[in-house]
Formats: sequence, C-alpha cells, structure tokens
Amino acid sequence: LDLWNLVDGASIRDALDIIVVSFLIYMLFSLFRHSSAMKVVRGIVFFLVVLGVSELIQLDTLSFVLRSTLAVGLIAIVVLFQPELRRVLEQMGGTSFFSFFSSKENYNVSEYAIIQTVEAAKALSWAHEGALVVFQRNTSLSDIVKTGTVIDSSVSSELLKNIFYPKAPLHDGAVIISNGRIAGAGCMLPLTTNTNLSKELGMRHRAGIGISENSDAIVVIVSEESGSISIATDGVIKRHLTADTLEKILRSSLIITEETKPAGFVDSIRRKFKGSKKSK
Ligand code: ATP
Ligand code: MG
Repeated sequence: LDLWNLVDGASIRDALDIIVVSFLIYMLFSLFRHSSAMKVVRGIVFFLVVLGVSELIQLDTLSFVLRSTLAVGLIAIVVLFQPELRRVLEQMGGTSFFSFFSSKENYNVSEYAIIQTVEAAKALSWAHEGALVVFQRNTSLSDIVKTGTVIDSSVSSELLKNIFYPKAPLHDGAVIISNGRIAGAGCMLPLTTNTNLSKELGMRHRAGIGISENSDAIVVIVSEESGSISIATDGVIKRHLTADTLEKILRSSLIITEETKPAGFVDSIRRKFKGSKKSK
C-alpha cells in the first residue's frame, strides 16, 4: 500500500489514458488491415500529422484551413465508406468479445480437406480444367458466398472436380471454403486493380489475386489454358507450383499449430514476454 501512495493518481490516469488510446488504434488498424480503407486511414494519419505540425509552428492560415476541412472531412468519410464501415461493425459484432482479444483460430482446415484439394487440383490441372478455390481465414467471406450458390459440404476431391467440370452449372466462379467446409460455389470475386501483372493472367487469376488483396484468404488457382497451379496470398501470386509445393503451402497456412497460430493482441504480448525470457 505504501507503494501505491508513491504513485500519483494523475499519472495512473495518464497511463490508462495512453493504454486505452493505443489499444483503440491497434484495433482500428487490425480491422482495416485488409481493406482499401487502410489507404484512407493512412491519409488521415498524414493529415493529422500535418495539422499537428502546423499548429506547433503556428502556421495560422494552414491550420485554420485544415481545421475547417476536418469537420466536413469526417462526414465525407462516413458517407464514402458506409459499406466498409458497415462490414467492419458487422465483423465486430460477429466475433465474440473474447475471440477478438485472444487468438483467432476459427479457420482450421483438416489435413484430409487439404489432401482432397491437392488431389482435385492435380486432376484438374491434368485435364486442363480451370478452378478457383478460396480458403477463408480470419476475414469473413460470407458476402462473397452470397454471390454464388450456397453449399455446406465437407471437402472432397470428387465434389471439387465435379464443380469445376466445364459443363457443370457451377463451374464458373469460385469455390469458397470456410471453417474447413465448402461454403459456396459459383461465387464472384473482386478483381485486382494491379496493373503490373503479366498479361498472361486472365480474369480467373485476377479474381483470385483480387480476393487475396481484400482479405487474408489463401487462393488456389488452376489454369484452364496451361494447367498450371498457382496460389495467391496478400495480393501476390506464386505460379507453376507442383502438387507437393501446393500441399506444403496449404498445410503451413491452414493447419493451426501452437507455432503458426495467428496472435491476437494479448497473445502477441504474452509471446513477446516468453521470447525475451527464453533468450536470456
Ligand atoms: P485460364 O488460365 O484458366 O484461362 P485466366 O486467368 O486466363 O484463366 P479467363 O480465361 O479469363 O482467366 O477465365 C475466365 C473464368 O474465370 C470465367 O469462366 C470464370 O469462371 C472465372 N472468373 C472470371 N471473373 C471472375 C470473378 N470476378 N470471380 C470469380 N471467377 C471469375
Ligand atoms: Mg484464359
């Protein structure tokens, strides 16, 4: 209790203040990380920095202009980003309080499902039948599933081959796999706007890259033209994979072990502590 008296009440309040604000900023960034809104968030940060500096060195006209823009700007952002804001709020409501704070491991895919997918990719590649399979991870793809035909089935190579059979009604578009189950087929994905991609890459590949930019999903693409197998993650495509490499990548990114578990806020701090203890 003596120790408690040493610490001034105001400084505790300051510390709490800082912790809460940094936590809110962390939450904001992690929610927006995989959307185009991230660029806007960066823009706003830049704007605020310029405003701060101009106040500091008393550029009165500049800070007046910036301050006046601020109020209008806030309203404009809400209007412009209404769909994104809605999605973020929906996701916040969808993930329970505790799963947001601890690690997210709801996407675990069974080894069996991975082997079946690799099996199907091999066969489809061999037969030169195009395929597009999206493995959802933390970013919910329920809006994308709704653009196609909703399915709820375990993953089997036969079913995947059947879906992507060129004369089958569902072969156009993407299959979404969420929580280890086929959730939808014939789904429409957002196309990438990246202009630096090889001209060889057509719509199927651009759609696969597009969804990997807009979410943390892992996308498997089989080319109808060349039969080559690719994987897209974080907007980057790895092409001409062998079945073995495909399987390795899928295993390492979809099967969750203690090591590969994505860290939540609390976990990442806990792990840092563990790490620093070990290194001593
Ligand atoms: P391939 O090497 O297989 O020919 P590609 O990248 O050249 O692939 P296209 O030939 O343009 O692509 O393939 C068209 C197919 O891609 C369509 O039949 C459809 O199944 C799929 N596709 C195109 N756009 C989308 C989209 N927005 N979302 C999901 N699938 C799409
Ligand atoms: Mg093509």
